[in-house]
Amino acid sequence: MTYLITGGAGFIGSHLTQRLLREGKRVICLDNLSTGDMRNIEQNKSQGYKFIRGDVTKPIEIEEKADVVFHLASPASPPDYFRFPVETLLTGSVGTYNALNYALKNGALFFLSSTSEIYGDPLTSPQNEEYCGSVNPIWPRSVYEVSKRFSESMTMTFHREFGLSTRIVRIFNTYGPNMRLNDGRSIPNFVRSALSGQDITIYGDGSQTRSYCYIDDVVDAFLMLIDADYYLPINVGNPEEITIKELADSIVEATGSKSKIVFNKPLDDDPKTRKPDIGKAKHILGWEPKINLHQGLNLMIEAFRCKN
Ligand code: UDP
Repeated sequence: MTYLITGGAGFIGSHLTQRLLREGKRVICLDNLSTGDMRNIEQNKSQGYKFIRGDVTKPIEIEEKADVVFHLASPASPPDYFRFPVETLLTGSVGTYNALNYALKNGALFFLSSTSEIYGDPLTSPQNEEYCGSVNPIWPRSVYEVSKRFSESMTMTFHREFGLSTRIVRIFNTYGPNMRLNDGRSIPNFVRSALSGQDITIYGDGSQTRSYCYIDDVVDAFLMLIDADYYLPINVGNPEEITIKELADSIVEATGSKSKIVFNKPLDDDPKTRKPDIGKAKHILGWEPKINLHQGLNLMIEAFRCKN
């Protein structure tokens, strides 16, 4: 089996790659390294691995045929997509169209990594897959939210119109090794600051909530979904909900840090709450997360100690 992973040098893509290579699969990574990192993939020296530096917003002209396309390419951290707003919109729209066309041409299964961000600043909690979300198409965050909504719409259209086999996961907050030190999201920021003794900065009063899932659990869900005959969107996340202040406190405690927690102004359009309803993933895939936040944070802290 050959897998094409767009965004394969990024955080999630690099973990997925390592799992597939361990299982003896062939992996082609297509990444423009805008937010991916060569250090995530430089250990992949086996014959079964190929890296192609390329941009999904250009037609994908890879001669080799893949059986499965994992379409993960996109900036995913708010500071990254605020820095690359046009590129983010083009990656989700033109990039998804190109990846779908490659899958169609090769008779491959197409797997879209969508996001809980398609629910926007949700008016209901937890969010299940039937919730249509609360997204303002003109706020700055929409570059990510709307591009992923477009990706889902395009994927479903290829499924309906051309009979393409497709899968859609809506990934909630995920963390683990291979996130960049300067990724900008909450867990890498807090762990990095705690380990270096710098202030931990919370945007807003810290009462906003998130639900964090460890990367290995997310990769398990991906591979289970590939084997399941299910094409509608499915939430993948850990329903263990926590406020950002509680998260910062946990990281200070787990690292034994002397860092101070300081409060800054809230980010524009920052969702106040996020928690997945994973009933569907449990029922259809028999999946639920195995690693709780306490265990996952310790693994993350160990990985970041080695980076520091
Ligand atoms: N956040 C924070 N300090 C940081 C980074 C993030 O207070 O250094 C907050 C952010 O405002 C948001 C929450 O933590 O309310 C989760 O942010 P993250 O970037 O991890 O994920 P997302 O907003 O995409 O869910």
